[in-house]
Amino acid sequence: MADKGEYGLNSILINSFGYYLKQRFPQRVHKVTVDAGFTCPNRDGSKGRGGCSYCNNKSFNPNRRREIPSIGQQIEAGKIVVKKRTGATRVLAYFQAYSNTYAPLSDLEDRYAQALACPDVVGLSISTRPDCIDAGVVELLGSYRDQGYEIWLELGLQSVHDVTLKRIRRGHDFATYAQAVRLIRARGLPVCTHLILGLPGENRNMMMQTLDRVTDTGTDGLKFHPLHIVRQTLLAHEWKRKPFPLLVQHEYVGLVCDMLERIPPRYVIHRLTGTASQDMLLAPSWCTKKWSVLNAIHAEMQRRSAHQGCAHGGERTTRTWQLPETDPVSCTLGKSIPMPG
Ligand code: SF4
Repeated sequence: MADKGEYGLNSILINSFGYYLKQRFPQRVHKVTVDAGFTCPNRDGSKGRGGCSYCNNKSFNPNRRREIPSIGQQIEAGKIVVKKRTGATRVLAYFQAYSNTYAPLSDLEDRYAQALACPDVVGLSISTRPDCIDAGVVELLGSYRDQGYEIWLELGLQSVHDVTLKRIRRGHDFATYAQAVRLIRARGLPVCTHLILGLPGENRNMMMQTLDRVTDTGTDGLKFHPLHIVRQTLLAHEWKRKPFPLLVQHEYVGLVCDMLERIPPRYVIHRLTGTASQDMLLAPSWCTKKWSVLNAIHAEMQRRSAHQGCAHGGERTTRTWQLPETDPVSCTLGKSIPMPG
């Protein structure tokens, strides 16, 4: 089995975000998570209450605001950790918590500018909901890109199937996502789309349809997460009341490999799995072990002699699997948010 170090070898060929950053910057770049104090329209009542069914309520502790250090402090603290852990001397400020375009434009500009003003910040990665995208924020972020900053918008979608989106209480449909992608890409900004595999009521065909429709719609990057049930979520109540099947590790690994084979090499793979801490996770238990899952994906791709996009008969266009996922360093929340917004 490969360990973390071995992923730097030419052992498996995907266009990872780590590889993308290596091509883009002469110095090593890593993400640092920023909590800018935003909230979410699917919780505050403007789109819905209670949030997406898989979203952890603990993240929405109303007292948390008092504990957040300034954006500059978060980035400085993150830089120290990142440098020690990875040697990276440049960072992307990753606005991860909640919906990071959900505020008046002047507030957004203020928070983004605070991050960009920090030394060694080469850009922003902004995680948000498709229904929180409008021309104003796209233009603002586009203006940073015009100045040479690396800017990504990360959109939580999870599934293209409206029946599923309704079931997991996303509060938006696929058409809203497609419209947001068009708006963002028309300004020349790249989009990374978050998908969850194993959502209730979904079979393999539906998940493959999600992949195909998302790539057809024009995303630039993808993040994959297995569905896992964490405490203090609506999904946890639903699952305890009436358990539904969850993917076992080898099913998830097989699905991810099938998808990687199908994804043309130009799409950047930002993440291949997601984890939750043991104290928060109800099921499945394998979702606490990130490296076990990544190693299994690695082994399965090797067993198949596969590479990203090989189902299309494409040539290998990438040379390394350097950091199959660029884990952000979080200095405020301690643990990564289990699943994406
Ligand atoms: S997952 Fe994201 S969009 Fe859904 S309720 Fe949580 S923060 Fe809001």
